[in-house]
Order: sequence, then structure tokens, then C-alpha cells
Amino acid sequence: MDKLTSQQRSKCMSRIRSADTKPELIVRRWLWSRGYRYRKNCRRLPGTPDIVLRRYGAAIFVHGCFWHGHESHLRLPKTNVEFWEKKIARNRERDEQNKAKLREMGWSVLTVWECQLRPPVRHATLMEIESFLNRSFLARHGDVKKVRSYSYGEEVVPMAAEPEE
Ligand SMILES: [Zn+2]
Repeated sequence: MDKLTSQQRSKCMSRIRSADTKPELIVRRWLWSRGYRYRKNCRRLPGTPDIVLRRYGAAIFVHGCFWHGHESHLRLPKTNVEFWEKKIARNRERDEQNKAKLREMGWSVLTVWECQLRPPVRHATLMEIESFLNRSFLARHGDVKKVRSYSYGEEVVPMAAEPEE
């Protein structure tokens, strides 16, 4: 028997919807809406990057601030401090190694932190991601003819367009 009241049920549904606002989904949806195509969770590459744009030579990690130990505001739980310290230090070390490997393989690597996708700073972060992709594209292809200009409000941001096929 379904014992949920309609209020409980809508609470339940909103929880499901909020799962769609996970940090990497924010980035993926935005990239998709801007016309970028990507692979997700690319297991063949070191560290399984969350988003890979092959033509741009770009790998993006969207990191949770706690598990990946975002330095600027890391706060450990008050119990088992040593355990958490070790665990997070290990995660960070592994992240660094994976990113170094990717760079050696010729990829441009970007880390986006969960806290950088909170509404007040989200737009700036997404613009930063696009600028990273443009730089990465140019570093890889180095062809000025492929650069178009897109304007955001008053500001003109150069954008690397993918070649037409
Ligand atoms: Zn953070």
C-alpha cells in the first residue's frame, strides 16, 4: 500500500529533481546547450574525467569540494580527523597524478569545483570553462581562421569554432 501523503510524495519528487542539479550535470547541460559535444566519464583516460572534448583536447573534472579536498575551505569532520585527513590527502594525490598523466598525454586539463557552480558565481565559472576550451582548441589547432567572435552583452569573447565537415 502506498502510504505517502501527496505532500510527502512531492517532497520525494523534488529530491529526485535536485539530483539533476549535480555539479557535473550543470556543466554538461550548459556545454550541450552551447553546442559542445563531449563524452562523459571517460574510463580510458587517467582519473576517468567527467567531461572529455576530444576536438578541443580538453578534459574536465568536476570535483566535490569535500572528497577531493578543495583547499580554500576544507573543513574536516570533528571525529576521526586522522582518518579523513589521510583519505582526502590520498584522493588529492591521486587527482594530481591523474592530471599530470593527462597533461603528459597532451590533454588540457581543467578542474571545476562544486562551490564554483553555486548560483552567485556559476555564470562566471561557465564563462571561464568556455574560455578554457577556446584556449585549448587554439593550442591544439593553432588556426586563427577557425576563431569566431561571439558576444556576451557588451563584451566580445573570441570563440574557437569547430571546423565544418
Ligand atoms: Zn570548494
